[in-house]
Parts: sequence; structure tokens; C-alpha cells
Amino acid sequence: MKFSRLKRKLGGLLGLDSYYWENRPNGLYCLNFHRIGSGEDTPFDPCVFSCSTNELDNHIGFIKQHFAVISLTELEQLIKSKSPPTKRYMCLTFDDGYVDNFTNALPVLKKHNVTASFFIATGLVGNNTVPWWDKIAYLIKRYKPSEVILSGWNQKIIYSGNQESYIRDILSAVKLCKYSANEQILEIERELSHSTGYPDAEFMSWEQLNTLLAEGMEIGAHSHNHDILTKLTDDELFYELSHSKALLEQYLPCQVTAFSYPVGNKSTYNQKVIDGLRNTGYQIAFNFLPGVNISPSNSPYDLHRFPIAPEADEAALKNMFSYTGKF
Ligand SMILES: [Zn+2]
Repeated sequence: MKFSRLKRKLGGLLGLDSYYWENRPNGLYCLNFHRIGSGEDTPFDPCVFSCSTNELDNHIGFIKQHFAVISLTELEQLIKSKSPPTKRYMCLTFDDGYVDNFTNALPVLKKHNVTASFFIATGLVGNNTVPWWDKIAYLIKRYKPSEVILSGWNQKIIYSGNQESYIRDILSAVKLCKYSANEQILEIERELSHSTGYPDAEFMSWEQLNTLLAEGMEIGAHSHNHDILTKLTDDELFYELSHSKALLEQYLPCQVTAFSYPVGNKSTYNQKVIDGLRNTGYQIAFNFLPGVNISPSNSPYDLHRFPIAPEADEAALKNMFSYTGKF
């Protein structure tokens, strides 16, 4: 059992939850959202939904009460100052650039008068591209195969009655496979005899991104094609980092100095990726691993972010912030 999980269990047993919450350290806390709304309404991947609009409203209210919400600009200043955080700071981040960030999240953020940052995979803007995870989820929902096995996989995945966890398991197998997601999609399409295309993609337009900026929000890059960066050649890696930044700066009135790693776990970035970010003019980068950043200036390209799961209540949030590791 990992130490943080053991500590959480013991803390609960010994009645120390509120002690740990009250005494959570100063540092940078970051939250990462993806889609906002209901996963039941989309033809695509339901597992990308972080919370409903109402839940977002509650979460932001709670965060404002207990943390000092700062922008990326303020975070970069904090990092440059090299001084340890003297407060519990919070950065609110959204990855991928789904249109519900504009329709559902923006009104809530404006209501609470907080700045959030949106990390955009530029290959998904303004061209109706459906990303690989949404294509696979769509195919599973439409054709309902009872099991899936692809040539690069070790074992088949069998439907056990819960469509969401079935989709999640299939997407995990796709991520682990040595073949690219696009190659795997072609194989699934062939297996299911799919030849009729996909519904319209659900991403923000350049115009909507411009409005986000005009409303005081900030924009970062999330690569161009949302590929796993450690699987790329040097040239492909350079393209993903530089082209996404260049496009954002070409179409939007902003300087892009922040990045979030696609997928974001430990296997999806390394020193070569970090060197690439530094050389392309990025100042900070976020992973998708939970944890409190006690000294963000020590690892500005390895900033940890907490996930948000649907139906997380206040107690779950407090628990998450209290017991997760420090970096
Ligand atoms: Zn992403």
C-alpha cells in the first residue's frame, strides 16, 4: 500500500482528517478538469467528464474559501522569485479544449471571478477532428461489441455490464499498446465494419478561445496532435511543442509559456521532453499526477495536478488535498 493511502486510512481511523486538512501545507495546489457537464449526453467518451456544471460551481466556491486562486502569470512570477510559497495557492486548469469549457465552465468561472487556464491541443481547433479516445468510445457505444482484442494487445477486454468501465479499460489498453492509437482505430473500424464517419467533434473554435482570453482566462499548449510525447521521434517532438505554441500565438493575442503533458502520467514525459519545452520558450509544465507542489520553483516543468472525479463532495476534496504526497 502506498504511504499516502496508508496515512489516509490511519488518519480516518484515528479521527485525524480535520487535523490534516487544517494543517495542510503551504504550496501550490492545482486542479485539472477536462469536460464539464453530463457524460450521458455525449456520443463520445463519457470518462472525460470531470463534473457537472453544478458541481463545478460548488467546487469553485469551496476552493475560493480555502485557497488563494492565482493565474499562470502569477504562478510564473512566484516561480521566478524562487521564494517558497507562503500561502496555499491554487491554479485551476482545464485540458483538451472541449466546447463545454466555454458553454458550461466559463459562466461559472466568471460568476466566481476567478482566472482559470485552458490547455489546448491545437490540432483539434477549427477542423472538426475527433480525437482517438472519442472515436473509440463512439465505436464501442454504437456497435456494442461483447469483447475487443487487437493485434498489439496481450489480452482481450470483455464487456462485464458497465459500459463506462469497459470503455475505460479499452482506452487503457490502447494507451499501453506499442502501435499508435490511429493504427488501432483502423483495426477496430475494420473489425466492426465501420465506414460511416463520426458525429461532429465537440471542441472550442478559435473565436471561442479568443472570447476566453477577453474574459480574463489564460491559454496554454497541450501539444498539437495530443500524442504521447515519449513515443515520438525528435523531429515529431519538436513539432508538437513548437507548432502548438506558434498556432496559439498566431490566432490568439497571447504569449504561450505554459504546457500540459498529454495524458500526463510519468511515462508520458521525460528529460528530453522537458529540455524541448525549455528550448521552445515554455516556462512551466503540468503533469496529471496528484500532489502538492511545496517548492514549485524546484521543478517548474513537473508541476502536479489533482484530478476531479464526478460526484466528488467537499469531504472527498478535503481528503484528497490533505493526504496526497508533497513534491
Ligand atoms: Zn489531454
